[in-house]
Amino acid sequence: MANCPKCNNRLPFLKAGLLSRVRNRVECRSCNTILEADTSLSSISGLIGGLGGALVIWNKEIFGNQSLSLIMAIATSVVLIIVAMLIQNRFIKLKIVENKDH
Ligand SMILES: [Zn+2]
Repeated sequence: MANCPKCNNRLPFLKAGLLSRVRNRVECRSCNTILEADTSLSSISGLIGGLGGALVIWNKEIFGNQSLSLIMAIATSVVLIIVAMLIQNRFIKLKIVENKDH
């Protein structure tokens, strides 16, 4: 799990999992420290998320031309996005940017 490097408080899953190159900062609610994510990891999870998007676009080519192919593609992409968030949440590196207390 993603923990605050200062106070070791666990960060909310959705906040840590959705950190990206565009929005790579999160505030620790426990000690009010602004944390910045290592963006090299978010590109990996972005890749997995992109794979999920590709599944939806090319669902007929991947799952075959059947009525359930789109539903299967969406379900698979949702699973992939959750997996990407779990990976990011588990391995993300956070560094302290600033502390609002000072
Ligand atoms: Zn903290």
